[in-house]
Amino acid sequence: MFDTIRSISNLVRPDIERFLAYSKIFHDARQYTDHGAVERELERRLAQFHHVKHCVSFAGGFWGLVMSMKCLALPGRKEVVMPSLTYRRLADIVAWAGLVPHFCEVDPQTLSITGEKAASCVNENTALILGVHPIVNCCDVEGLEELSARTGIPLLFDAVESVYESYRGRKIGSCGRAECFSMQSSKLFNAFEGGYVTTNDDALAARLRDMRHNGLRQDGTLDDIGIDAKQNEIHAAMALAALDDVDDQVERNRRRYYAYQRLIPTVPQMRLVEFDESERCGFKNIVVELLDGWPVKREHVLAILHAEHMLSRPYYYPALHQKRTDYPMVWGDLHATEDLAQRFLMLPCGHFVDEADVESVVATLRFIHAHAAAINDRFSS
Ligand SMILES: *Cc1c(COP(=O)(O)O)cnc(C)c1O
Repeated sequence: MFDTIRSISNLVRPDIERFLAYSKIFHDARQYTDHGAVERELERRLAQFHHVKHCVSFAGGFWGLVMSMKCLALPGRKEVVMPSLTYRRLADIVAWAGLVPHFCEVDPQTLSITGEKAASCVNENTALILGVHPIVNCCDVEGLEELSARTGIPLLFDAVESVYESYRGRKIGSCGRAECFSMQSSKLFNAFEGGYVTTNDDALAARLRDMRHNGLRQDGTLDDIGIDAKQNEIHAAMALAALDDVDDQVERNRRRYYAYQRLIPTVPQMRLVEFDESERCGFKNIVVELLDGWPVKREHVLAILHAEHMLSRPYYYPALHQKRTDYPMVWGDLHATEDLAQRFLMLPCGHFVDEADVESVVATLRFIHAHAAAINDRFSS
């Protein structure tokens, strides 16, 4: 179907002249890292973008999450309540923070953690609640905030997938004690690599700033822990160029999404997971569900799409508790998660996919459905 690969990665390319203009600032100043002018401007702009007091940037989303967990986890306790159907490295990040993932079920409607599901996993060893937004729309922010208020257990968000969204009209970025974001090149903001944490908590922001800088405090003393996880200036320059472009990018994403919204109903037994347009949406990824009666195994659908150069992926598969790890994890009955982990897939989107491509992708899906019997025969032989 395609000569070159159509992936599910964003890989958005900001304007080169803007990137170079921001880069000239650090080049002229001869400051390449250590909280230079470009990084300070980026933090100011991101705090404004998220309607929050502080933004602390990091070399990657990973270390922003680890350091935030280190700061927020209740002392003497180990477990982090989090969903299992989520970003495939998230349990590892918890382990890197010296904590133990405790997986809760997700809500089948939103594919995400809710206050109620999280509550059933809270116990005397719970150190932190990790709310994670799904790829489409937001998780139950209000329910999680209520649970946190009721139990006194701090609430942190992995908000990587909801960087552009709002929840009940409130911009994502100021919920819970802190929210963590990534600017890796497949995300909405492309900084090559990078991440940041937003918070309204002055003391938390100050500690995170010290920790990412080898734990070196302003007064020259050392924090108990620290790591070199600063964002450097050239990545910050790329991030600023991406930020200048983001509204246009979302408009392009919206057009791709509308093409899918128009065409997916022509494929039997398939459902598009729709964005809630009563909120702000980034329209970044396209997720579809294979409904009961869909006639071809998901792995075979993926094999066909890959052969035709569409790098479609299963939605967060396998679930985290289904993966072997060399660190401890805790979970109970995760039936809904295990079922949902089999049903969804992500379709080509992002910078290299145009509306004509969307038609070709959907035509292929219709073809697979129409020729299911022959396809299944070929796979079984
Ligand atoms: C990408 C991602 C991360 C990690 O971000 P990096 O900057 O790649 O370390 C964390 N959580 C989610 C949901 C992600 O998609």
